[in-house]
Amino acid sequence: MDDVRRRYRYGGPPELLATVDARHRGQPLDSAAAVDAWAAYAGADPFTYVVDADGLLLAADRRSEHVACAGGGDVLSAGEMSLRRADAGWAVAEVSNQSTGYAPEPASWPAVAAALDRAGIAHRGGFTAAFEFRRCPGCAELNLVKDGDYTCCLCEAPPPA
Ligand SMILES: [Zn+2]
Repeated sequence: MDDVRRRYRYGGPPELLATVDARHRGQPLDSAAAVDAWAAYAGADPFTYVVDADGLLLAADRRSEHVACAGGGDVLSAGEMSLRRADAGWAVAEVSNQSTGYAPEPASWPAVAAALDRAGIAHRGGFTAAFEFRRCPGCAELNLVKDGDYTCCLCEAPPPA
C-alpha cells in the first residue's frame, strides 16, 4: 500500500485565497449521519469536494471554490461529485478531479477512494471523468486538457513540439 500520497497546494488566483476563512471550510463527510444530512441538502446535484491533507472528505456548494472548501489548505484531491441512493446508504453517481485551483492528477484517485470508504459512500473504483491539467509554457495559464488538445485557452499558444 503506497501511503506517500501527493499533496496539492492551491495554485489559483491569490485574490481568491485572500477571501478564504479557514474556520468555514466544507462540510466534513465522515459518518453515515453526515452523509445523510449532506445528501438531503444537495440532492442529486453535483457539489464541490476536496480531500484534505488528513484524508477527510469535505463538501461544499457547487458554486464554492475548492480553496474555500479546503479552508485554504493543501489537498490530496479535489473536484466535483454527485451522489445517488444505494441499496444501503449512498453511492457516487459522478466524480471528477476537475479543480483548476488545485489541478489534482487522475492518479490522486486512491485518496478519493479512501475518503469515500471512510464516509461509507460506495463507488466504482475510479473517477467517472478524469481531467489532465497543463500549465502553458507561454503565459502560465493552467489549462484543462480536453480531447488531447494542448492549445492554450488564454494565449492560444500551440502545444510544444
Ligand atoms: Zn498560454
